[in-house]
Amino acid sequence: MLPSHITLSSQKIIPLYFRKKKGNVMRLSVSADRTLKLAAPFFTSERTALDFIESKKDWIEKTLQKIESRKELIKEDCLNNDGNVKILGKNYSVKIEYSLIEDIVVCGGEVSIFSKTPADEIKIKKQYQNYYRQEAQQNFMESVEKFYPIVEKFGARRPSLKFKTMKSRWGSCNWNKGIIVLNYNLFKTPQNCIDYVVLHELTHLLYKAHDKKFYDFIEKEMPKWKECRNALAGRQ
Ligand SMILES: [Zn+2]
Repeated sequence: MLPSHITLSSQKIIPLYFRKKKGNVMRLSVSADRTLKLAAPFFTSERTALDFIESKKDWIEKTLQKIESRKELIKEDCLNNDGNVKILGKNYSVKIEYSLIEDIVVCGGEVSIFSKTPADEIKIKKQYQNYYRQEAQQNFMESVEKFYPIVEKFGARRPSLKFKTMKSRWGSCNWNKGIIVLNYNLFKTPQNCIDYVVLHELTHLLYKAHDKKFYDFIEKEMPKWKECRNALAGRQ
């Protein structure tokens, strides 16, 4: 029987879920809810499983840190009076005011939400979400316009764009169908991070794998891409 929790070198304790699987490769993953999942072949001994986890402890710590910084980066918006929201890497305080004409105005460090029903939290949330998504799409499309010519030169077809809120990815590219999906949460991160993800996904239209050619291409266009990737602390 494997322990139900694993203690890391930082003394952090993390729950462990174990399942048996076919094949002969062990797989370890850290979920967004900070649990460790081990899938191991049927005849794996307890010792082998524990040694495997032991050998991955540094990686587990690093992955947990990434999950933490990612959570900070896309902190949940708080849409009360004096709450706060994040746009393009900046924090804004929220002001909700009664108005016959509904509108949202971003000025200085403040987001003012003008609403006919300022006490209705669900409506305020919806109103802000519509605004946020529209602004995000506009921003993402401008970024694509900026970077698409770079890959177009090498024969990439114009991709169709989709926007979604995703848990574990900032963006993805379906190479065969020519579809790029961008995560709405990206609009909470600074512009250079958005641009990096857009360039990254566009580059997949030319190079499928994350190999040297792929990153050389990105580096030529965006020499500081590593800063953005590290800031995003996640997969693209
Ligand atoms: Zn990628």
